[in-house]
Formats: sequence, structure tokens, C-alpha cells
Amino acid sequence: MRFKGVAGSPGLGIGYAALYEEPNLDWQHVVYSGIEGEKARLNEAIVTFKADVTEMANRALEKHGKEHSDILKRQISLVRDPFFLQQINDLIDGGKVAEGAVNEAAETCVEIYRSTGDERIMQRITDIMDARTRLLTLLLKVETLDPSTLPPETVLIGKDLPASIIAALNLANLAALVPESGGFTSHGAIMARSFGIPLVTGLQGVFDSVKNGDQVIVDGNQGEVITSPDHETLSSYVAKRQSYLEDQKSLNEFLNLKTLDADGQAHLLFANIGGINEAKIAKANGAEGVGLFRTEFLFLDRTTLPSEEEQFRIYSEVANIFAPNQVIIRTLDVGGDKNVPALKLPKEENPFLGYRAIRFCLNEPEVFMTQLRAILRAGAKEKNLLIMLPLVTSLDEVSSAKKILETCKGELQAKGQEYDQAIKVGIMVETPAAVSMAEELTQVTDFFSIGTNDLAQYTLAADRGNAKLGQLCSPFHPAVLKSLKRVIEAGKKANKLVGLCGEAGADPLMIPILLGLGLDEFSVSPSSVLRVRREISHWSLERAKNLTNEVLSLTTTQAIKDHLQKALKTAP
Ligand code: PEP
Ligand code: MG
Repeated sequence: MRFKGVAGSPGLGIGYAALYEEPNLDWQHVVYSGIEGEKARLNEAIVTFKADVTEMANRALEKHGKEHSDILKRQISLVRDPFFLQQINDLIDGGKVAEGAVNEAAETCVEIYRSTGDERIMQRITDIMDARTRLLTLLLKVETLDPSTLPPETVLIGKDLPASIIAALNLANLAALVPESGGFTSHGAIMARSFGIPLVTGLQGVFDSVKNGDQVIVDGNQGEVITSPDHETLSSYVAKRQSYLEDQKSLNEFLNLKTLDADGQAHLLFANIGGINEAKIAKANGAEGVGLFRTEFLFLDRTTLPSEEEQFRIYSEVANIFAPNQVIIRTLDVGGDKNVPALKLPKEENPFLGYRAIRFCLNEPEVFMTQLRAILRAGAKEKNLLIMLPLVTSLDEVSSAKKILETCKGELQAKGQEYDQAIKVGIMVETPAAVSMAEELTQVTDFFSIGTNDLAQYTLAADRGNAKLGQLCSPFHPAVLKSLKRVIEAGKKANKLVGLCGEAGADPLMIPILLGLGLDEFSVSPSSVLRVRREISHWSLERAKNLTNEVLSLTTTQAIKDHLQKALKTAP
């Protein structure tokens, strides 16, 4: 069968389906089998739990380091805890099924921890709830897919594939991703592009029509998924994949070059990353710096928050990888489609318009300051780190954040710790409010980076993750293009650097407009760096400016895209 969706991440993946589903942990149907029967089930689940979690802790040690592995080991000590076990056994003696007993004992522990009011003890609550879920899964014998142990050539298919699941995947074995819900700028798609994994999203019916192990073709260039292909189709896609890979290879000639336009003028070409691995991939792909470090990705696939030391180590390593070039670290941008389980944020009616990003950080100074201290310290050696604030809508937010930053500097000074005293602070321009206030915002910031993913969503009141609105939520809408012009002009007037880190920066149709408007810095996914460098090399500034002027006089998204497509086809 053939399914048409949104091309979320380029490339062709051919492999075997693995279906991902949120586990159903309802135990109301379980019948009490007597004290001995329930205790035997409990013991069996605990033995498996210990073996599974020990293995996960060992894997986590390799992937994330000791701190993360220790978190998992703490879960093992919890199921050994005599108080916890006694409670479960008492509840079973009182006639509860093992599932109900585990759940109630976990809730009692949570209540006790919560009542201490001690921040460090309260952090263990997530550990308890995680251990509870894992034990319930084992008791109910619910089949769950362990994202870290996928077999080779897996095509992972889900109704939804949350960013926290994608963050935990063993990428080496992944052929492609197919989340039925989502759009081009949803974070699953962004992560897939970073890692160069084909992804198709925004399609219906695939999940219900395939079985685990079925052969699947995922065409991330055209946005197509083909299940159980016949021999002829399969061979044609194997050939297509070969020529795609060859084109990819030919990009290598741009690897060690500067990013020059056709006039020989240099432009900054940075990458968007979410961690050390992507930093290394970005560097290997020729990125000249980091225009956006999505630090919230460090918080996703775990049950506790990363400490100041852990963050310090990660930011320092990325600073070293790119030194002396710049690395722009965005402070925690949680909320929207990025839920951080460890923060236990309440569900909201309108998460993209809700309590998120800078709004959350200003309200949770402990979390914010831990991160700011880590960035300040990591910038001490190379002095190449910059701080960027997300979702800014007012000058007040910038001043409040800067005040908190000054407090952090004072704390580090008092402790005699080294830090970058002159670290620069910029903002994401991704709300219509920030565009309207761009001129004023230049007075309180050192640089701008335009986030077209959110800017298109908020300007056009169209959910970026809703595939049905994909045509509407476009950075080529004249309202968004006018915003780009205004922001870049405001930056130029104030002599402040303006970058762009939304996904539009890698779109061949958008590149001439950004060159024509005089953008200072492009920041794109690591897998797009060389393609963008090749694209920029085709444009002289005069031609880009002329085309930009023509486009800015047009009044609909379609007319703009048609005009750009024609111009690209007739390019010299
Ligand atoms: C953006 O909004 O354009 C952006 C780069 O940030 P994110 O995609 O993480 O929201
Ligand atoms: Mg954004």
C-alpha cells in the first residue's frame, strides 16, 4: 500500500516495521490469585526489573555518562527498599492484586517525599513513578518497545513518536521514522533531520495497516510510505536510494570550503544541534559554528533534571569542538511539543500559547539559574559561548533574564569560580510581538536569531505540528517575509548580528531571499549544511536582491513560491 504524507526529513529508508504504542497499564480486570500467587508474580516482576534496569544503566553509562546511569541504578535500590517492599506485601496480604499494591505503595512513597518539601528528595519522585510504571508493565506483561534496543534496519512507526522516544533511540539501527501525526517543523522531524534519518509524517492509516516485521519503504524526499512493496517497486527504490547517496557524497567537495556566494563574499553557516553527538556530526559536516543549541533535548529522555555539573561538562565539550567559533546556547525552551517528564508540567489546553520557554524559566529561577551558571562557567575558557532566550515577547522578559544572569555571575564570583564575564545575550525572534518590537529589542540584546518555525505558526495562527495546516503554516507567506525584512533591517541599523535558525534557512527557495535581505548567519540542521553551502554558491548578491524585491511585491504564498521556483529553474 502507498501512503502520501509530509516529507519531514530527506533520504530513502528501506527496512522492517516496528510499531510503537503507548502502553496501556489499566489493571482493573486483573483477578486476585491469592496471597502466594500475587507474591510469586511480584517476585518474578522484580527479578526481571532488576535485570532490565541493570542492562539499561550499563547502556546509559556509554551513551549519557555516569550521572544518568546512576539515576537508573537508584531505581534498582528502590525495588530493594525494605519499607517499599513491606508495604507492597502488606497490601497483597490485605487482598490487593500485585499491580494495585505496587501502585499504592509508590503513591505513599511519593506523598512522604513530597511532604518533606526538600527539593533534592522531591526529585526522587520521578524515579519512583518511573519504577512503578516499569513494574506495572512487567506485571501486566504489556509488550513495550524498548527504543534503545531496536534490531537493525528498523522503520519505527507510531500514531505519535514523541521527542522523548526519539531521543532514546539507538540510531545506528534505524532506517526511517514514520509518526502519523506531526508536521515539517515538529520536533520529531527536526531531530530526524539532525541525525540524517528519513522521516515521513502527517499521514493516516499506516499504523493500523502494518504488522511488526513487514517490509516498508520510506521516501523522505517525496513524503511517501510504501508497505509490503512488490519486487519491482523495491528494486526501483533501491536504485533511487543509491543515486540519492551518490548526490550526498558529491556534496563532500564543499566540506572544507568557506561558505561563499557567487561573488566570493563569505557568509556564516552554522548548525542547529541538540547535544554532543549532533555537535560532532555538525562539525564533521562542515558547520562553522552553532547557531542554535536546543538544550531542552538534554532534558528529554530522562527522569531527573541534569545538574549544573552535567550541563557544564556538555556545554564545555561543545565549546571545545567549535572553538574559536561561536556556539549559541538557547536556554531551556520547554513546553509546546517538547514535554520534559522530569519537570512534571501540567497539561494545558493550548500548550504552544502556554506556560513555556522564557515564561517557565523566569518563574522557576532554580532551574534557570542552574543552566545559566553552567553556561557562564563553560564559556570561561574559550569565550565562544553566547546565551539566547526563546519565545521573547517583551523587553521586560529580557531585562528580568539579564538580572537573573547578573545574580548568577555574583554567585560564581563569590565562590571564586571562573566564568565568562562578558558573555553576550541575544534572543530568538519568533513571535509577532518580537517582530513589532524589533527596533526596541536591539537596545537590550546583542544579537537576534529568527525562529521561522514558531514565527510562521504564531503569525499565521496555524499549529506547526498539524499536517492539515502545512500549506498555511508557511514561511513563504508574505506576512512572514515582511517580518523577516523588518527584523533584519532593525538588526542592521543597530549593528547587531541577525541569524536565522528556523527550518526555512535550509530551503533552496528561501536561501536567495535571505541573501537578498542581508541575513548575517544561517543555522541549519547538521545534515543540511553542505547542501546549503552549495546552494549559496549559486547566488550573486545582485541576483538575490532583485529576486527578493520581486517576491516582496507579491501578495500570496503560492504566487511567491511559483515565482521562486521559476527563478531557480531558469538560474544561469
Ligand atoms: C523556531 O521556532 O524556528 C526554532 C528554531 O525553535 P524551535 O523549532 O525549537 O521551536
Ligand atoms: Mg521556536
